[in-house]
Amino acid sequence: MNIIEYVNLEKSRLKEEVKTFSRPPHLLIIQVNDDPASDAYIKGKMKDGEEIGVKVSHLKLNPLTSEETLVKEINLANDDKSIDGIIVQMPLPRHIKEDVIKLAVSPKKDVDGFHPLTTFKPCTPQGIIDYLLSEKVEISGKNAVVIGRSNIVGKPMAKLLLELNANVTQLHSKTSTEDMEFYLSHADIIVVAVGRPYFIKEQRLKETAVIVDVGINRVGDKLVGDVYPNLDVRLQTPVPKGVGLLTRLRLQKNLIEAYLEAHKE
Ligand code: NAP
Repeated sequence: MNIIEYVNLEKSRLKEEVKTFSRPPHLLIIQVNDDPASDAYIKGKMKDGEEIGVKVSHLKLNPLTSEETLVKEINLANDDKSIDGIIVQMPLPRHIKEDVIKLAVSPKKDVDGFHPLTTFKPCTPQGIIDYLLSEKVEISGKNAVVIGRSNIVGKPMAKLLLELNANVTQLHSKTSTEDMEFYLSHADIIVVAVGRPYFIKEQRLKETAVIVDVGINRVGDKLVGDVYPNLDVRLQTPVPKGVGLLTRLRLQKNLIEAYLEAHKE
């Protein structure tokens, strides 16, 4: 099933599930920037919420807001029983420390999965795993290569693949071209999170390989991935309408899990 079909099917399933709840799950998005890309991401999250039947509130604060005031707002939301999930939209202004904010969100409401004590998995890597499993991609004992080692994608992606017993190799900017080619040619699953247009294009790959393209790069007025489209492999996720949709779907699943956890008898 392609990603759009998969996401639509999952959303209808979630919509039916939410109908059985005593009230709609409630996500609060706090934004402290004037970044157009953040505006677009938030719009997408609000649209998903509307389709599934969950409530999404948006608190837009002035980018000059102090760290202390932001933490106070987060604490109010942490204590508010009508709110199940909290997201602080990145990026933050320079005067606010990302680590302080990530730790301020209650682990029980941290649907982005950033807090070290939260049980929620970060949305991009877990969304990818959800899709691979739905496509019956074998992970255990397979060679998985993750290119990129950021805290939000590369590192948690490698960790999740390892938990599912893949043989994980993590590559990055210090990896030599020869080694990159060697590892890619042996890979069964390749996750590319580099942020460079068509970083993977002419390398030798297995025909049976599965490629997950996380990259989102603006080239002129087009959005392109880190991987050249339609390579000769078993499965390749597209850009746009690929991993971005999986990330958004996982966020809604985390929110519903947070609601269910808070309403356990
Ligand atoms: P990031 O923090 O900039 O990390 C990029 C990673 O790529 C780094 O680990 C870097 O290695 C590695 N890298 C850079 N140049 C390389 C090279 N020539 N060879 C091998 N590795 C190289 O980026 P990110 O936050 O992980 O995001 C990566 C991409 O995914 C971006 O395009 C971003 O927009 C996109 N993204 C998409 C979603 C989604 O939902 N679709 C979510 C998050 C991010 P070093 O560590 O050695 O510097």
